[in-house]
Amino acid sequence: MDNEKGDPLIKGLMESMKMDAYVESRIREMHVCFICGRVGYKKLPMKKIGNKWICIDCLRELKEALDTLEEWEQELAIQEGFRKEIGKEFNR
Ligand SMILES: [Zn+2]
Repeated sequence: MDNEKGDPLIKGLMESMKMDAYVESRIREMHVCFICGRVGYKKLPMKKIGNKWICIDCLRELKEALDTLEEWEQELAIQEGFRKEIGKEFNR
């Protein structure tokens, strides 16, 4: 066996270690959205909130939900009022 030309076993091992290092460095750049579970990359911008990452799409949805929160709360209050009324009807 001629070791100077490189042992194919060691060469293979080196290649797989290089691959692992590459994958690891890529993983460090990636973040998983805690709402939809998608992995962020250049085309899917991510934002860190606390120690969680959220993608732009979920952030937009969240903003929309927050923008309509007041409306929603009013709706819920009305529903709660109805529920009480209905409850009275049935408990007579
Ligand atoms: Zn998302």
